[in-house]
Amino acid sequence: MKSAPVDCSVWPPRYDARYVPPPEQEHWFPDIECAPPRDRDALIFRKLSGQVRYAWERSPFYRRKWQEAGVSPGTLKTLDDLSKFPVVQKSELREAQERCPPFGDNLCIQPTEIARVHGTSGTTGKPTVFGVGRDDWERIGEAHARIMWGAGIRPRDRIMICSFFSLYVGSWGALKGGERLGATVFPFGAGVSGQTLMAVQWALDLEPTAFYGTPSYALHLAETARREGVDPRSLGFRMLFFSGEPGAGIPATKQLIEETFGGACVDMGTMAEMMPWMSNAECRHRTGMHLWQDVVYTQVCDPHTCAPLPAGSEGMPVYTHLERTSQPMIRLVSGDLTRWTDDPCPCGRTYPRLPNGIYGRIDDMFIVRGENIYPGAIEDTLRAIDGFGGEFRVIITRREAMDELLVRAEHARGVDTADAQERLKKTMRERLRARLGVHPIVELVPEGTIPRTEFKARRVLDDRDLYRTFVR
Ligand SMILES: [Zn+2]
Repeated sequence: MKSAPVDCSVWPPRYDARYVPPPEQEHWFPDIECAPPRDRDALIFRKLSGQVRYAWERSPFYRRKWQEAGVSPGTLKTLDDLSKFPVVQKSELREAQERCPPFGDNLCIQPTEIARVHGTSGTTGKPTVFGVGRDDWERIGEAHARIMWGAGIRPRDRIMICSFFSLYVGSWGALKGGERLGATVFPFGAGVSGQTLMAVQWALDLEPTAFYGTPSYALHLAETARREGVDPRSLGFRMLFFSGEPGAGIPATKQLIEETFGGACVDMGTMAEMMPWMSNAECRHRTGMHLWQDVVYTQVCDPHTCAPLPAGSEGMPVYTHLERTSQPMIRLVSGDLTRWTDDPCPCGRTYPRLPNGIYGRIDDMFIVRGENIYPGAIEDTLRAIDGFGGEFRVIITRREAMDELLVRAEHARGVDTADAQERLKKTMRERLRARLGVHPIVELVPEGTIPRTEFKARRVLDDRDLYRTFVR
């Protein structure tokens, strides 16, 4: 008798590790991915109930938190009841770690059962440590393989992974998914001096068909290739998938990547804490990231009250694991901003979607003269302008008690006469003004002047605090 590829009658679900659909099949689990949402919600509810009960029994962190909030597994009678559970802030995870080092009291397995230790880099505070159990790691592979299948990757593909192999989970997650799917994986890495140039040569020799990294790095790789006289299209990537930055979901950046490489640009990614982090991911039709709700359950919420918002709303994703035994996250606040829709997608999946991706972080938003501004909006505007040289920085200063927005942007090679540069500056000023509602000062510098990043680009410098320090 043929066994089912997944058994959801138990928690956590049991996957058949040998299952791979025939290559021509669009969906990995068509019965789940294309189910009427109401039917799938029943499955999600079963998984969620198992997850919540498990966390209640195993994690002092959740038991304490939920008791304080007056909820328990018995509170969860329908999927909507999840909203009665308090959200988890990242700062609480750090506190849990300090209280109970190194993993925190949200760890639900014995430390000896941890198969992998990962973490965040700690650029915005103390690093966070993650312990991932062996079974969880296998389930992460199952989820990623299925979602990468949805993005169009098949066992015949060769995936070049051009990002850090370190505590950063992005690269490892792509590697694990690629291996489970049966593709050839090529963990090239990034970050070593001279490595980008080597990446060009290796890509020419190895002929990978898929690329994983950050959008900034892909564009950096393309520039490096061109400097060597290599057309990035000749590297042969028929699809490129991304996480770590919002770029792949920004329309102009997406278009630029697709034109540059001649391959499909697929946006993915939630948060490091939320492995499998691909539970937000576009399908091969690239209509915005699907929320793969039976992998990780995502509510788009009001950023202040954390109450779920209806389709069409802008809000903040709040994530809940459904099959995580090591460090489950139940209602983890992302701090990101997005808009969600339940409009259909040509792929036939009935998952909700984020048609504009994740376009900002609530923290990244800055206010200039009363206007809310997201770095992504500046990037989108500049990349759509002919003559833009590829990189930019935003500097916010305060002069005579007025905020000023300075955009330092590169002009492309060839935009070299004073006239042409003046015209380009004017176009940039006008389009940024129309998009942002603020008059920016535009300063042009030659292409290649602003440092490229091999990882996540930080493009905004807010000088106003400096101003406050010096001008009293
Ligand atoms: Zn789709």
